Amino acid sequence: MNEAIPGARPHVTLDEELIFDRSGPGKTGAELPPLDVPAISAVEAVGGDYVRPEIEGFPEVSELEVIRHFTRLSTWNYGIDTGLYPLGSCTMKYNPRINEVVARMEGMATDHPYAPEPLVQGCLRILGETARCLKEITGMDAVSLQPAAGAQGELTGLLMIRAALDDRGERRGTVLIPDSAHGTNPASVTFAGYHVRNLKSNARGCIDLAALESAANEEVAALMLTNPNTLGIFEEQIEEICRIVHAKGGLVYMDGANMNALVGVARPGEFGVDVMHLNLHKTFSTPHGGGGPGSGPVAVKAALEPYLPAPVIEQAIDGSWKLNYNCPKSVGRVRAFYGNFGMAVRALAYILAYGPEGLRQATEDAVLNANYLLHGLKQAYELAYDAPAMHECVFSDRRQAARGVRTGDIAKRLIDYGFHPYTVSFPLVVQGALMIEPTESASKEELDRFVEAMLAIAREVEDDPNVALTAPHTTRVRRLDEVTAARKPVLRWQPTAETE
Ligand SMILES: *Cc1c(COP(=O)(O)O)cnc(C)c1O
Repeated sequence: MNEAIPGARPHVTLDEELIFDRSGPGKTGAELPPLDVPAISAVEAVGGDYVRPEIEGFPEVSELEVIRHFTRLSTWNYGIDTGLYPLGSCTMKYNPRINEVVARMEGMATDHPYAPEPLVQGCLRILGETARCLKEITGMDAVSLQPAAGAQGELTGLLMIRAALDDRGERRGTVLIPDSAHGTNPASVTFAGYHVRNLKSNARGCIDLAALESAANEEVAALMLTNPNTLGIFEEQIEEICRIVHAKGGLVYMDGANMNALVGVARPGEFGVDVMHLNLHKTFSTPHGGGGPGSGPVAVKAALEPYLPAPVIEQAIDGSWKLNYNCPKSVGRVRAFYGNFGMAVRALAYILAYGPEGLRQATEDAVLNANYLLHGLKQAYELAYDAPAMHECVFSDRRQAARGVRTGDIAKRLIDYGFHPYTVSFPLVVQGALMIEPTESASKEELDRFVEAMLAIAREVEDDPNVALTAPHTTRVRRLDEVTAARKPVLRWQPTAETE
């Protein structure tokens, strides 16, 4: 720990070795009753072909050793429960524990997706009510909860756009995307069989209307935009943008991953958006990171409703809920069953517990917090675009780069101050981006500590750039070879001659 750093609260991690190092022959973590059948080996039981040799050498440890091992390992993980997690574009907000409790209740967690509809009316109602709330929040006409991530929601929305255009007898080949877009946008467009055409942002970091005007033509199937965009700036011309695209017969897809800045305040359905997705794991109370689960519902205007993934949840006149599989124009099923059901449970619990006023308050606090950081940091870091922030703010490392220190170095140094790094080098339109999203969860005291740490780093860079260049200094491991880790990941421990 480095007590000399003002405002620093380094994250404490417990040292721990491989579980194999705790292993000893014959140790066991469980008390099993004596065998009442003859003992046979694995090879005798299933045949030699099916027994993997590496299973041998499995660690043998006691219950207490297992518990200590994994508890110690868990201190290596930095999460929202340990401190501020200001990753921009990710909305790493605190998700109330009560929603986890609700999602784990019997009936919610154990009902079978193939159970007959009359026996799972409660579950169907949760799906139906969640969709109804999301319609209300987005101002759209229909919602599918199937897609398992934001990116899959994007693909689903694009497939629906293509189906609608096919129905009109139109073969359009291009989707316009602003240069500040999240990487999943062009990937989904390519996946859906369209060409990506980039739109340059203007000096305010927003869509350039003149550029849009000249790019929009009868070849354009859709404009895919994020609002607020990935610079944290609200596209104030959104109605005009939609008008330009619609005038040429194209549709507007809105990436709704940044809805944490809009919920309860503004509804994309009223801007002129035709289809959008939400990230329940960002905005609506499912913790994320570490690979899942995700949920990326798509919301559409009535004209696209016939193309929604099947089955569609419906309520009959007698109030009962059912799944309608008879959707001839549907783009088909995009995920097994009805999506990640537990996430609909969390989202609905969150929405109902907060109510309209609470949701609006969360949005206003998220925006206030981002602006508080923007004003606290702009004296030391160069603002990418001087516009009011919505839920996140983006700086450039230009001033620090003059001293040889880049955004990645500043992020590493931030770890020494006990904070998770912000998002590094994204969006790509900003040189050396520092993208910071505090969310509504951070208190003013926590924001002040974060600002203090970032200002201290900026001073260090002036005094001695080497401090940041060699950071982190207070962690269990120092700077890692991230390129090799990404290119040649070793995901599984295997015995080597040395350890055997
Ligand atoms: C997170 C994010 C996505 C992708 O969502 P996933 O659920 O990770 O697939 C798309 N666009 C933006 C702006 C995002 O922040």
